[in-house]
Amino acid sequence: MNTSENNKTNKILSEKTENRDKEGRSIDYLRISVTDRCNLRCCYCMPEGIKLLEMSDILSYEEIEHIVRVFAKEGISRLKVTGGEPLVRPGCPGLIKRLKAVPGIEEISITTNGILLKKNLDELKEAGLDGINISLDTLNREKYRKITGFDKLEEVLEAVDAAVDSGIRTKINTAVMKGINTDEILELAQMARDRALDVRFIEMMPIGYGSRFEYADNSYILAELKKEYPDMTGDSRRHGNGPAVYYSIPGFAGGIGFISAVSNKFCENCNRMRLTSTGVLKYCLCFEDGSELKSILRDTEMSESLKDERLREEFRRAMEKKPKEHCFEDRSRISETKEMFRIGG
Ligand code: SAM
Ligand code: SF4
Repeated sequence: MNTSENNKTNKILSEKTENRDKEGRSIDYLRISVTDRCNLRCCYCMPEGIKLLEMSDILSYEEIEHIVRVFAKEGISRLKVTGGEPLVRPGCPGLIKRLKAVPGIEEISITTNGILLKKNLDELKEAGLDGINISLDTLNREKYRKITGFDKLEEVLEAVDAAVDSGIRTKINTAVMKGINTDEILELAQMARDRALDVRFIEMMPIGYGSRFEYADNSYILAELKKEYPDMTGDSRRHGNGPAVYYSIPGFAGGIGFISAVSNKFCENCNRMRLTSTGVLKYCLCFEDGSELKSILRDTEMSESLKDERLREEFRRAMEKKPKEHCFEDRSRISETKEMFRIGG
């Protein structure tokens, strides 16, 4: 980088504020849903027969980049690209490359079901992707078909190995449902034995179709694992941007993580906002409230500088409106009615 480029970058970074919400939490992480489409039909997320949005309702890549450029100056430095299934939207690696080039953006990861991952891996690596989370709830082929609607387990397992081989930080996300995949905890955890990846157990949240399933408390899962691995110990090193608590098992190449959204509120450390595929900036998974950004971006009367100003205002308003905590423990207070594939899980 030459001196003038260096000065430009330093100016942008010095313009960037560390943004704290009304609870004093530093908000630096944005999860971006790039599509409501998916090539699976997971029973807890997007079962068969769902009506999809019109493409014109979904933000274009240019619109997403515009929002990220403004928000990066407000303190957002880490992004997660999700969906629906982000890799079904053509050009997703190209979007990641563009977002990675936005001044102030330090890290981008993707959450994917893995089906299209192998095919996109070289391009994703070239785009500068920093992390891949692959969702995998079972290692049983028939159960995989039952949960997701498709016989695609082999493709996902191949993608897991390809992701690890690519050198990009890889994690497996397992959403645990009582009586459905609790019997596979050990086998799933053992994926981290010979592979340099983390396996994370996620409590099923009562959002969308997830409310039809009973979550398994992560303390039960930890206790089950400790029976087999009594030397399992807490690992306080940072493994990513999320609220996971990690453990290491002697002899394992990777770690075991727990995301206990239901049994153990981690709201006081929440660092995130969510951008839905239709351009709503959501403050918390539990509540439907959000700032509608698409109409600002598509206002043909508004100048570009005024749009930036309006987006900045909405971001700052979100800092004020972000609730103190979720209310998964009291379903009557959950106001979010959208399904996970629409919100961006
Ligand atoms: N299609 C991609 C995938 O499956 O990774 C990205 C979108 S998906 C909505 C993101 C993650 O949300 C997946 O790991 C999925 O298991 C998880 N998920 C969906 N509904 C959930 C719920 N109600 N509670 C917890 N996790 C959920
Ligand atoms: Fe698709 Fe991911 Fe939802 Fe499964 S969890 S239906 S893969 S968006």
